[in-house]
This record gives sequence, structure tokens and C-alpha cells, in this order.
Amino acid sequence: MAFEGLSERIQNALSGLRKKGKVTQTDINQATREIRLALLEADVNFKVVKEFIAKIKERALGSEVLDSLTPGQQIIKIVNEELTQMMGESAVALNKSDKIPTVIMMVGLQGTGKTTTAGKLANRLMAEQKARPLLIAADIYRPAAVDQLKVIGNQLEVPVYEEGVNNSAEDIVRHGMQQAKENKNDYVIIDTAGRLEIDESLMDELKNVKEIAQPDNIVLVADAMTGQAAATVADGFNQALDITGVILTKLDGDTRGGAALSIRSITNKPILYVGEGEKLSDLDIFHPDRMSNRILG
Ligand code: GDP
Repeated sequence: MAFEGLSERIQNALSGLRKKGKVTQTDINQATREIRLALLEADVNFKVVKEFIAKIKERALGSEVLDSLTPGQQIIKIVNEELTQMMGESAVALNKSDKIPTVIMMVGLQGTGKTTTAGKLANRLMAEQKARPLLIAADIYRPAAVDQLKVIGNQLEVPVYEEGVNNSAEDIVRHGMQQAKENKNDYVIIDTAGRLEIDESLMDELKNVKEIAQPDNIVLVADAMTGQAAATVADGFNQALDITGVILTKLDGDTRGGAALSIRSITNKPILYVGEGEKLSDLDIFHPDRMSNRILG
């Protein structure tokens, strides 16, 4: 399960404090040192860890702990609150446009789950809002992506706008947007190209697509298994495109958790959903508080 190692180590670090009637500076130093190592080992960005530990220490030495009859419990509560804060406080929904269609542009590196997640989002919107989405296949560099999106469209009975891989992404998106207007689709979900790493020509293409589609949401799909690298990638996409949020995939795998814990602090953009499996129904709203509870057990 995701976060297993992190969860176990943080719980161990805090277990000694749980029943203490009095907590000393040494106890606090010991616990925070352990938590710091656990977070670094879970591949959380070191600056994020540093700030987090500083906050915990500051609060642990404050009156809310010292004046408490259960100081150990109080520190655990602080760790819980700060972990939640690190991941974004509360769940954030997609932006919705006043007029149809609401446009969602999916971006991300290859293999992160972008195409699958486009389908998962369509599925969710249909189930939640009886939405009538149109998927646009604008990943023209990975020929299989267009077919993959068509298969997903068939499965969900959602129309897919595609022109194969011989036209430019810009043209495909322009035409797809036109089709959505004609068919009065309330959502458009654009699957864009990915690469193995961020490069300038990819970003230029994505900027053009952004200009054409005027998306209400630019959602970065990031692979949780890549840990801290996912946060670095998110930062790169955010600087180029000003993303509106992140979907973290493969949280069902053996991820150490670093991505989930770093992304918000590094990009200041929320994690909207998490992918927890390969099925089109495996997309869940990201609740920072529940994730924190899951880590603290
Ligand atoms: P793209 O290149 O970004 O479009 O990636 P794909 O959508 O083709 O996904 C790459 C692989 O990751 C596929 O095998 C997906 O089934 C798988 N995948 C996507 N999301 C998840 C997830 O949340 N959990 C798991 N376990 N696999 C996922």
C-alpha cells in the first residue's frame, strides 16, 4: 500500500509521545528528527521537510502543548494538522465555466496516465453531473494514444474527436472545440502530447493549445511512483502553463508518498484527484485531511 513505510515510521516516532504526561525538549527533538528522516526517505522535497519540521517544533514548544494535560496527544494533533496543510488543507473541485463547454486540458509526461485519466474524468463527470463530455485526441506523437482514447470513448460511450496523427495538435483542438460547440457538449477534455521529459517544443505546442482552447482547467497528470521528481515536473509545467491543479496517479502502487506531500508546497496548486487503479472508475477526490489520517493511522 502507498505510504506504508512513511506511515509506520511516523507512527513509531510519535508512539512514545502518545501517553506522556510531560514532554521534554529532548522528546520533541527525538520525535521530529525521526519524522524528518521518514519524510526524506519517502522522497519528500528537503525544503518542504525543513519548513514542516520547523513549524512542528515551533508549535510543539508553544503554549498549546505546554499548557495541555495531554501534551503528547497535542503534538500528534499538530503533526496531523501540518501534514494536512502541507497537502493543501481541503479538497478542491475543478473550475466550472458559466457557459458551456467547461474545458479541461490534460498535460503531463508520457506514461504518467494522462490518457487513462482523461477517460476517468469523463466517467466521473458523467456519473456526478450527467455531463455530456467530448474527448479530444491531441496527442499526435504517440499513435497508440489516439486509439487508446477511442477505446476509452467506446467503453464510456463518450464521443472522441480525432483526426489521426497527421494534423497539428493546434488544428485538431480548434476543430474539436468547434465540434463541441455545435454538439453543445458541456465538457471538453483535451488529451495532449507528453514526452519523456519536459522540452521546449512540447511546451510551445501546449501553450498554443492553451491559447486556442482557453481552458478553465489545466490539469497536470503526475505519476506518484516517481516521488519527488513528480513535484519537479509539476513545477516545470506550472511555470510554463500556469496549471490549475494536479491529478496524482498510481497511488495504488507502492509509492513512498513524496509526490503527494511535496507538490502542493512546491507549486502552490492543489491536488484535485488521485488515481488508485487502472479501471476507469479508479479516480478519487483528494482529501488532504483523510490522507493525513491515513498516514498517521
Ligand atoms: P499517458 O502516456 O500519460 O497517456 O499514459 P496512459 O494513460 O497510457 O497510462 C500509462 C499506464 O499507466 C497504463 O498502463 C495505465 O493503465 C496505467 N495507469 C494510469 N493511471 C493509473 C493508476 O492510477 N494506477 C495504476 N496502477 N495504473 C495506472
